[in-house]
Amino acid sequence: MISVFGSANMDLVAYVSTAPRRGETVTGRAFRAVPGGKGANQAIAVARAGAGAAFLGAVGADEFGPVLREALAGAGVDVTRLRTVPGPSGIAHIVVDGDGGNSIIVIPGANGTVTGPDAADLAAIRRSDALLLQLELPMDAVVAAATQAEVPVVLTPAPARELPGELLAAVGLLIPNEHEAAALTGLADPQESLAALLDLVPEVVITLGAAGAIYGSRSGERARVPAPPVRAVDTTAAGDTFAGALAVARAEGRPHRDALRFATAAAALSVQREGAGPSMPARAEIEATLAATTEEER
Ligand code: AMP
Repeated sequence: MISVFGSANMDLVAYVSTAPRRGETVTGRAFRAVPGGKGANQAIAVARAGAGAAFLGAVGADEFGPVLREALAGAGVDVTRLRTVPGPSGIAHIVVDGDGGNSIIVIPGANGTVTGPDAADLAAIRRSDALLLQLELPMDAVVAAATQAEVPVVLTPAPARELPGELLAAVGLLIPNEHEAAALTGLADPQESLAALLDLVPEVVITLGAAGAIYGSRSGERARVPAPPVRAVDTTAAGDTFAGALAVARAEGRPHRDALRFATAAAALSVQREGAGPSMPARAEIEATLAATTEEER
């Protein structure tokens, strides 16, 4: 079982050819409301990748709260520790333009009310193989969960924020994308960033978009895995799919390179489909992609 302590947002997505400038009104192509939020996405990715998943967080007492709860429960995620709090749910207001670029406003809502885990939350976390964290909850809550977890802590440092030393000291595996890695270290080169981040945490994976991912550990192991070549239509939640699948593969005891291959296969499947939660691949699809890419490499 893998616990995820994090955010749940309703993604309100407007698709336009060109995003409006200030004072301008444009006609959009389509609108979708889809469950998202980095925490909920990772929990669904874990469940779909074939492991038990528990989500700890909060949704609001508005029309979106039940939708977010059902998206998690429907994917098989344990929502026993998901609270409903007064006020609105978290919202991500997203504009996707004709080139697939996006701009996003996140209004934390219920996520902003989350404090550190209580005794029952901690009991659930400590029964897990790992705790997955991201940075869409108040930093104090994230630090409290990491420092009290007593199980391996995996942090996706997104959205990029400065990381308190107390948090870094509790993290076992850090999974930034290349932009977050550069923001954390001030180094543009991912290999140099990886080396610098290993001064802060014992293991690091930097995701490199279509170029795949690199892994390093303080004990000197290194691995690089390319992404399967696919036509990407929507990279929303690719990083969350990657993190969830990687956690599952590691919990199964797969060697580092195999775990990375499992995660890149899952993420490659997700970028070929629109949306966050609905884009996440099931275990059988990940295994099929892995089998196909292994065959090609022979
Ligand atoms: P990113 O957050 O962009 O680094 O993406 C996370 C992971 O998603 C990458 O490590 C890849 O495994 C996968 N991914 C992202 N973009 C693509 C793409 N265009 N093609 C294949 N895989 C991708």
